[in-house]
Amino acid sequence: MKVDLSGVLSGELDRIRKEYEEAKSAGDMDLARQKARNVADLLRQMAQSTPARQTYFNKIAVKWEAIAEGRPVPHPATSGYTATESSGDSVDEEEGFRNKADSLITKSDVTWNDIGGLERVKRLMMETVVIAGLQKPAAIKPWKGVLLFGPPGTGKTLLASAAAGSLQATFYDVKSESVLSKYFGESSKLISALYDSARDHAPSIVFIDEFDALSQARGDNTSEATRKVLSSILTHLDGLQDKKSDRLLLTLAATNTPWELDTAVLSRFPRRIYVTLPDKDACAEIMAIHMKELDVKKLDLPVLAEECVERRYSGRDLQNLCQQAMWHMIHDKNQNLHKLAELPFADLQKRKLKVRPLQREDFDEAFDRIHSPVTKADLKRFDKWNETYGEV
Ligand code: ADP
Repeated sequence: MKVDLSGVLSGELDRIRKEYEEAKSAGDMDLARQKARNVADLLRQMAQSTPARQTYFNKIAVKWEAIAEGRPVPHPATSGYTATESSGDSVDEEEGFRNKADSLITKSDVTWNDIGGLERVKRLMMETVVIAGLQKPAAIKPWKGVLLFGPPGTGKTLLASAAAGSLQATFYDVKSESVLSKYFGESSKLISALYDSARDHAPSIVFIDEFDALSQARGDNTSEATRKVLSSILTHLDGLQDKKSDRLLLTLAATNTPWELDTAVLSRFPRRIYVTLPDKDACAEIMAIHMKELDVKKLDLPVLAEECVERRYSGRDLQNLCQQAMWHMIHDKNQNLHKLAELPFADLQKRKLKVRPLQREDFDEAFDRIHSPVTKADLKRFDKWNETYGEV
């Protein structure tokens, strides 16, 4: 049985690092190098005893080994780190980014059954994860990056969560915009830390939403920081560092505007899956998912579904539609609901919300309120892009 020694060892690490700094400031470079060697050895031990941080500890160990041997500290393009010889600090910085990366881990209990319609897309996604897992001849390489494109709210995030949920994989939910703005100028360090973390926690799925924000075609107004983040992601996609091919590390990138992606970026995502607006059957399925446990016998679901298709509703629109209709029914049956707010919570828990079967009238107002942002011209554009670039 492996014992987690990281707590004990990290105290020791702090102590030796301090001795290193002291020796360096006193100008005793021989002693400083010896201490750097001790730090590196300790990090290698920590990597052994802490599989969840193996890549991370090994990576920092390489830097300390360089310091110990008086070589320039490696600064791999792949890492995006800016370590320098004085780099007690950069180690702390790396630790900070690693913690931020770990905080992007979300638990996914979404299953394929939570997704209505999208049968073809679901099959393609299942295939992707199955191929990654199966034993296979060396020439058959699993997909490392898959692009999901289509109108907003069609279930791209949901598909990624279901892939992670079904594999019980570690799920990293990355919103490009927020990574770029929050860690401005340093986002590429976060991406490196994220992929280290993903390798340590494999099987892992890294989901990058709003991918277009990182990869505007021709990038005239793409900032240097954005370019760095993108190149960091692409390098990790190529999997240079992933020598152990039995580890699943899949990057799923999603975009609502695939035509904004640079062709060089596209080539790194050979599998591009079109997540379409739901058709009639899919609309009915999605509504059923979002009205679970309610009585829908009075509804003519196929007729409602037809109307939803005409209105170009996405899965998200359908979810909102059902919510609105349910609220209509709830207000109808529970006229003075707000007055119960005066009751203590324990009393509330003893009461039951009144419900009745949903009916067409509940949907009338909801239909008036929900408008799809997608136009016919948008759909044409998606179809055309799919014909040229979409691949299965
Ligand atoms: P996207 O990532 O494509 O913008 P999401 O996956 O975030 O869309 O979908 C938003 C929400 O809409 C989901 O959380 C889910 O509640 C609902 N939804 C979208 N598509 C579907 C679907 N096919 N089946 C069930 N619910 C869906």
